[in-house]
Amino acid sequence: MSFSYRTAIHWFRRDLRLSDNTALWNASRLSETVVPTFILSEWRGDHHWTGPGRQQFLCDCLASLANNLEAIGSRLIIRQGKAIAALETLIKESKAEAVFFNRDPDPFGRETEKKVQELCRSLGIECHSYKDVVIHEPDEVLNGSGNPYRVYTPYSKNWFDQPKPEVLGRPKQISTPSEISSLPLPSLKTWGITLDSSLTMISAGERAARERLATALSGPLLHYAVKRNDPAADSSSMLGADLRYGTISPRTVFHRAQKVADEVETAEQRKSLHTFLKQLAWREFYMAILGHYPEVLDEEFNPQWRHLQWDAPEKDDAFDRWREGRTGFPIVDAGMRQLLATGYMHNRVRMITAMFLTKDLHLDWRLGESHFMRHLIDGEIANNNGGWQWSAGTGADAAPYFRIQNPWTQTGRYDSNGDYIKRWVPELAKTDPKRFQAPPEPLDPLADDYPLPMVDHRTERDRTLEIFKVHKDS
Ligand SMILES: Cc1cc2nc3c(=O)[nH]c(=O)nc-3n(C[C@H](O)[C@H](O)[C@H](O)COP(=O)(O)OP(=O)(O)OC[C@H]3O[C@@H](n4cnc5c(N)ncnc54)[C@H](O)[C@@H]3O)c2cc1C
Repeated sequence: MSFSYRTAIHWFRRDLRLSDNTALWNASRLSETVVPTFILSEWRGDHHWTGPGRQQFLCDCLASLANNLEAIGSRLIIRQGKAIAALETLIKESKAEAVFFNRDPDPFGRETEKKVQELCRSLGIECHSYKDVVIHEPDEVLNGSGNPYRVYTPYSKNWFDQPKPEVLGRPKQISTPSEISSLPLPSLKTWGITLDSSLTMISAGERAARERLATALSGPLLHYAVKRNDPAADSSSMLGADLRYGTISPRTVFHRAQKVADEVETAEQRKSLHTFLKQLAWREFYMAILGHYPEVLDEEFNPQWRHLQWDAPEKDDAFDRWREGRTGFPIVDAGMRQLLATGYMHNRVRMITAMFLTKDLHLDWRLGESHFMRHLIDGEIANNNGGWQWSAGTGADAAPYFRIQNPWTQTGRYDSNGDYIKRWVPELAKTDPKRFQAPPEPLDPLADDYPLPMVDHRTERDRTLEIFKVHKDS
């Protein structure tokens, strides 16, 4: 077999798997030896956009990846520092003739990629980058005038119409030069942080991701169209963190779900699987929005709503009460506590809690965005920003500002038996669930040790409408 390179580096980023990994597949095909490398970030203590749960998930993904590499005769090389400096050292040490990586859709990742390409050019070696994190990159799905879509429905139609790339294989064997040194696998100590011991997270790694997909396709996703809004039912795939860290590829998820959709017996099951596939298009819509409009990380997507006046987070302890699940709105508190306990929150409840923060407490969506990023194991910059701006009414194809969900009626619609609320708010275990669907009277709390609602929804709704209207007219 003839190779193009004697040694190449595969730079792992958010693609922590061996199967169907485009850059790794090509690196292993074209190179006699491969240095599979992950570069740890250097921050310590506190990070605006991640937290102990997600870092622990990352550590577990890396441990699993290292095992998988060993099983095919290779080793994971861990380095720490700025990606450019670490790669430069490694290129020189290993005498690598090429660097392979999968492209990252977020602006920070793309900035680093440009520098890596310049580095390779300056060192006179090849640099190969691939589409892998998404099925269609932002520039592949454009409207008739060649511009990015700002609305989901036409985007998704175009997205579905495009031919889908096939799934690649899994390298059978990779040789890695024995003299290349590696740091030990990271732990939370690497960043000087500790995990709350009560956090119960999903398991990490490529096998766990494959099992989650298989489980989802064998049951929950067959009823997804009807059940996906029921937060007490295990009705979704739970693949968010896997897609975030690339322990499974979006191509694999798409083709497996499509295959099941082709084989199922009822129209309802087919519809369910199609509804699920639409979520993959939402993921790529938000990645395209972030790719084309990176300013959404700082300001409102819709220019009309920039510089809205939000309240101070300290006012009445509002932000703390929301974060800790002590608002006195059972569905909101259940969601916020699910997030703290598991690093996950059901999609419907993400919308309710986000709308509550912005429309009932009048707090800046960026506060909530950062809190979610610190706690969600599936924290994904593009989806999170999209979800927050949607809920705040400021984003791409967002809920219009005057459509304000009422947490009490949302409870009646999506958790009418109170199963979800009772699971996460034990103080309410003995309360009649019908009482979760309307505000309690001031002298009649839902339980002795549960707070009265911190605000009156109708009053705050009117205030939101006023704030947006005044801003619009100004
Ligand atoms: C305020 C808010 C914040 C959010 N933050 C994130 C986030 O940080 N990371 C994240 O992956 N999703 C986020 N979402 C979208 C959605 O809530 C999660 O993707 C979903 O709950 C994850 O559970 P699942 O993997 O079981 O999803 P499933 O329902 O099984 O969907 C499969 C996959 O499709 C994608 N997806 C599903 N719904 C959406 C959506 N509305 N927008 C974009 N992609 C979607 C995800 O990758 C998800 O894993 C957010 C939504 C809101 C309203």
